[in-house]
Amino acid sequence: MSHRHGLAIDAEGLTVAYGDHAVVRGVDLQVHEGEVVALLGPNGAGKTTTIEVLEGLRRRTAGRVRVLGLDPGVPEQRRQLRRDVGVVLQKSALDPFLTVLESVRQRASYYRLPLDPVDALELVDLVPLAGQLTRRLSGGQQRRLDLALALVGRPRLLFLDEPTTGLDPEARRSTWSFIQRLRDDGTGVLLTTHYLDEAEQLADRLLVMSGGATLADGTHQELDRLSQGLARITFTLSSQQPVPGCTQLLPDGTHVLDSRDVPADVHALLHWAATVGVDLVDLQVKRPSLEEVYMSLTGAGHASSGAT
Ligand code: ADP
Repeated sequence: MSHRHGLAIDAEGLTVAYGDHAVVRGVDLQVHEGEVVALLGPNGAGKTTTIEVLEGLRRRTAGRVRVLGLDPGVPEQRRQLRRDVGVVLQKSALDPFLTVLESVRQRASYYRLPLDPVDALELVDLVPLAGQLTRRLSGGQQRRLDLALALVGRPRLLFLDEPTTGLDPEARRSTWSFIQRLRDDGTGVLLTTHYLDEAEQLADRLLVMSGGATLADGTHQELDRLSQGLARITFTLSSQQPVPGCTQLLPDGTHVLDSRDVPADVHALLHWAATVGVDLVDLQVKRPSLEEVYMSLTGAGHASSGAT
């Protein structure tokens, strides 16, 4: 992650209401240039609504929004923004009568300083299919062409709505490394995803939404801590002994100690074992997975809202 660059997205109190029903309620969101931020949350959380306001596709009801310093809610500024922003929508909208290369050429013609269309195809490994009609592409190939189209204008900011849905594992990995390269070149990226492993691999920061509000915003490590992301120390003993401070003894004889301070607790445990003369067998320390953090955040409803 790099904060050498400025803010690509700066939203405060972003709110969208239909009638008197707010579906996005006071969301604060920042993405720096050179940073990947993932928007996570269950269906109906307000992710798409949020991203569409930032893209200028939907009006906000309240809040302050700046995208590359401009307000996407103002038509004149929205037009200006289009030159510097790349968008991959959830559903691809390719022209079925154009070839792969023709599609990229057409898109490139909208920009002043586009990439060479063949170079854009090279980035997503589609050069061998340049002459293919887009309707003949597989779902995964269409997804990669969507990315090439979003990139050909050399955007400073990319919006990706579920960019790897429908890709096979290999194509997902190559898309990830490719997005990371863009990030390293200073592009800001805001993506929505249903895949927690994708958020974990790709994003510098995660924003978890539920019911239109932000539940949590931070790095994976920060979210761990925020969900009382205790590390879990487990072991068995060479002979049964009551263990001071142990929270649980499982039926299979495994002792479980939830720890906020792993070095101190492991040290105390080793000291205790040496003193009473037992061996700690199969000693392990596990961090909660992002999945567990996410479940505890969204499962807890609004219990942890307001945390940053
Ligand atoms: P997500 O992308 O997280 O699944 P959305 O942003 O699509 O969530 O939707 C958030 C909420 O807004 C949902 O409850 C949805 O039903 C509601 N919503 C979306 N569009 C409209 C609309 N045009 N009128 C009324 N409610 C809407």
